[in-house]
Amino acid sequence: MRVLKFGGTSVGTAESIYNVRDIIQSVQGPRMIVLSAMSGVTNYLVTITEMIKNGDQGEIQALSNELKTKHIDLLEKLITNPATNKSVRTGLNNLFKEFDSLLLHEYSENNTNRILTFGETLLTYIFSEYLSSFQINNTLLDAKRFMYVGNLENPDTSKIANRIAPLLHKAESDMIYITQGFVRIDKFNRVSTLKRGGSDYTATILGAALNADEVQIWTDIDGFHNNDPRYVEDTHPLANLTFEEAAELAYFGAKILHPQTISPVIDKNIPIYLKNTFTPSLQGTKISSEINGSGLKAISAKDGITAIKIKSNRMLMAHGFLKKIFEIFDNLETAIDMITTSEIAISLTIDDTKNLDQILNQLQEYGDITVEMDHSIICIVGEGLIKDPNTFKLFEILNEIPVRMISYGGSFNNVSLLVATENKVSALKALHKNLFLQKEKEFVPTH
Ligand code: ADP
Ligand code: ASP
Ligand code: MG
Repeated sequence: MRVLKFGGTSVGTAESIYNVRDIIQSVQGPRMIVLSAMSGVTNYLVTITEMIKNGDQGEIQALSNELKTKHIDLLEKLITNPATNKSVRTGLNNLFKEFDSLLLHEYSENNTNRILTFGETLLTYIFSEYLSSFQINNTLLDAKRFMYVGNLENPDTSKIANRIAPLLHKAESDMIYITQGFVRIDKFNRVSTLKRGGSDYTATILGAALNADEVQIWTDIDGFHNNDPRYVEDTHPLANLTFEEAAELAYFGAKILHPQTISPVIDKNIPIYLKNTFTPSLQGTKISSEINGSGLKAISAKDGITAIKIKSNRMLMAHGFLKKIFEIFDNLETAIDMITTSEIAISLTIDDTKNLDQILNQLQEYGDITVEMDHSIICIVGEGLIKDPNTFKLFEILNEIPVRMISYGGSFNNVSLLVATENKVSALKALHKNLFLQKEKEFVPTH
């Protein structure tokens, strides 16, 4: 079994969907195809759910009509045979009716999630019918029947394996299955999501559940780049990354992968290939347990970080003090990303500020608290990175940019820096220029 996931831009137009069909057909054996919504659609759905929450009915109908038109236009381009088009149009209209009925419900978290995941429902239906119209045998699977992910950070893939097994056709060994990314059933058996960008995570969760040979993630770029191409010029794709490197980069903001994508496949050692739907012949990036080379490899940055400093000249080094601090975060289900300590203070960072008020309240007891919002963690990774002489140049390179915290030595393969978000882009550019471009120049033959 191979799992192939196609992201929003890969299924954003009829032209890109022609590519998707070719790619799927070029793969042999059973295939599980995970699709996102068409690009932009989930953003629309987010807006609609916010309007429902705010009781602002005004624009909802107009937005919903735009969404319908977008999918009908796609169908018109993909399925031109009048009879087939008509019957698929009927199926699509039924889905629209279901969607409209969700819009009439009062605000609830569950209804919100049903609306948010509807882009995937619409697109997978159209795509499955599109393949069928070319006599490409395929089975559309409703992810709500098997994507049981109770714990978002640690899915029980054996449970998913048990649920999906009866839905697969044992007799047809080259079957193409199509399912929706992003959607999950939570621990209360309600429809929920894997968070924005979650279709990547669907792909690796299914990869693990199905014991797949590989997971292919098809997107709009030629692999994992050594720095964020949205902010930095002259980045290039990496041929290989280890699971650990990719996990670190994804967790710390590399948008190409959902932050949790890597964890489900590590234990089963299932490689992930990142490929470009628009230039499928390019090599892309292989993420696996293989170690290729050492030293500095890539940089990413994660925004929305809040730094909290607890200053206490009495208790910090006292036995049990850190435990009490961490318990506060633990009880309020808030993950800590970076920590530094000194004799009299501890600084740490979080990205989820949902329970910030309660956290601060409880921390007051332990010292003076300072909070700094709008920071970014810059994550630098590479095998054995902390022994790389370049790593010691970091402060020199960033001499103009105040670094609020640094984490070095937590692992051999990673250094993290905390900077104000307003300095993020200049920090990424300076690091790129001095750590990558400078190095590349040194290797250019001079004759
Ligand atoms: P999809 O819709 O296929 O899931 P995404 O937009 O989520 O695609 O992810 C692909 C985008 O991630 C790229 O177009 C690129 O702008 C961005 N990106 C950020 N960091 C990186 C990186 N290190 N390497 C490659 N792409 C990156
Ligand atoms: N459609 C969802 C989103 O936009 C999931 C995904 O694209 O991976 O977040
Ligand atoms: Mg994505």
